[in-house]
Amino acid sequence: MKQKDLRTYKRRSVTRTSGFHTCDETTGGECLIKKAQAFNMHEDRVTFKFRRSGLVLTELFDKGNGMLAFGGYIYTNKPLTISFLLKYTMNGRSFEHQKDYMGPVNVNDWNNIGFHKEISSDYGETVELATVEMTIRGEANTCLQFISFDFGPVSKEEYIGDVFGKPFYQKTAMHIPYLYYLETTKPFDTYLLGNIELSSGNIVVLKSCNRCGRYLPINIFNEVNTLSFSLHCKKRAPCVHSTFRAYNIQNMDDVSMTDLKQLQVENGKVVSYHGHQLECKACKKFFVNAPLNPQRNPQQFKEDGLRRRAIEVLVNRLLDRNLVHFEFEHRTKKEFSEYIWKKFGGRCFKCNKKMPLDEMHLDHTMPLAYLYRLDESATCLCGTHNAQKSDRFPSDYYTEDELEHLSKITGLSLDVLKSKGVNQTVLKLLVDNVVWFYDEFLKEPEYQKIRGGIRTADKINDSLKRVIEGQVDLAEEYRSRTGKYPTTVTIVKTV
Ligand SMILES: [Zn+2]
Ligand SMILES: [Zn+2]
Ligand SMILES: [Zn+2]
Repeated sequence: MKQKDLRTYKRRSVTRTSGFHTCDETTGGECLIKKAQAFNMHEDRVTFKFRRSGLVLTELFDKGNGMLAFGGYIYTNKPLTISFLLKYTMNGRSFEHQKDYMGPVNVNDWNNIGFHKEISSDYGETVELATVEMTIRGEANTCLQFISFDFGPVSKEEYIGDVFGKPFYQKTAMHIPYLYYLETTKPFDTYLLGNIELSSGNIVVLKSCNRCGRYLPINIFNEVNTLSFSLHCKKRAPCVHSTFRAYNIQNMDDVSMTDLKQLQVENGKVVSYHGHQLECKACKKFFVNAPLNPQRNPQQFKEDGLRRRAIEVLVNRLLDRNLVHFEFEHRTKKEFSEYIWKKFGGRCFKCNKKMPLDEMHLDHTMPLAYLYRLDESATCLCGTHNAQKSDRFPSDYYTEDELEHLSKITGLSLDVLKSKGVNQTVLKLLVDNVVWFYDEFLKEPEYQKIRGGIRTADKINDSLKRVIEGQVDLAEEYRSRTGKYPTTVTIVKTV
């Protein structure tokens, strides 16, 4: 039997609400009562295959990688193991990624499951075809139930730029699947292939988040095993705080009396014993707990990414124009990555964790903002430590022993590793090519574009100005050659 009724719920509006403002539509005090979709395992294993095509990736965090994610909530009445196999094609090339679900599986209860795969932007931005095979192994006649599954690219606006990279890579596994910000009200069989017979399962209460506006499951029959919201009164239950304990049912017309009787309902509201937080755990992790600068909005994160890439391009062009080649110039990025990965024994330099090549994060070693390009002196780091190091100088991040070790691996002298200043070679090239920099490089339409009231070229110019402060004044340098100030940036002269 197909769960037609699951398709009738109101979809949220297409425009996503920014996590920086509380959501207009939801206060955290609303809920939907839904039915899970159930499947009876006839044998000791079953594979569910999901397929999507034409997925456009969003470049996330400071590396600008895309990300595909799959996940949802599963209930089982017997022990089982779960594994995932992702296959996808980009530009005609095929890739595979295998992932086992590592956490313990709660029996006779709900479990959060899912995984993600980062995809380098080098392969393009569109995934032509992607499938996920979710294989469940257990005993025959295990009854499985599913709710809030989705499969697609991660496109959370605030994940663009470098600010959320650090919290994202910390304790990621604990926050699957809700940290992907996928949809939560799609039927389980939305992308499911084949003839899989699903039936109607238990009722599940989906509560709203007042930040992201999503409806996410709460574990109303066993609240202490939280799913996507933390409890309000964990020890001093019952929760007596009206804002946190009862949730207005938004789809009363779709709910049968029999279903309703299983819940404690007061005045059209589902009552929770412990009460729940207003924000989902993802919004709590990213927007409430993370120490962030509240002045920055999603638009600014995007600009930061753009500026970072502009500086990368600038440094590369300056070196290329002047025939300062490095060993890997004519090889592919993959060969380069592999070289660095091998050099570090396939381990994160900071925590020594072993990782496959495609999970390595290449770190510049010396910061890009100070005009150091990604070259053979790069460091192999895991996601967590790459986000942690960010644009810091090695001497601000590593211990004395680590610096010595890093010097041996990278070939950079200890003096260089301990130095904190702009790359003098590139700075000299920039000064030599200052007319080109203003009249050609910054003239590109992309950099002349005004974003958030500010010309992008001004931002690039300002971030260079900050790091070379006291050494060179580029605009003056330009004027000494041409007799005028550059027009591709806004010059404010203080008298
Ligand atoms: Zn949320
Ligand atoms: Zn409470
Ligand atoms: Zn690490």
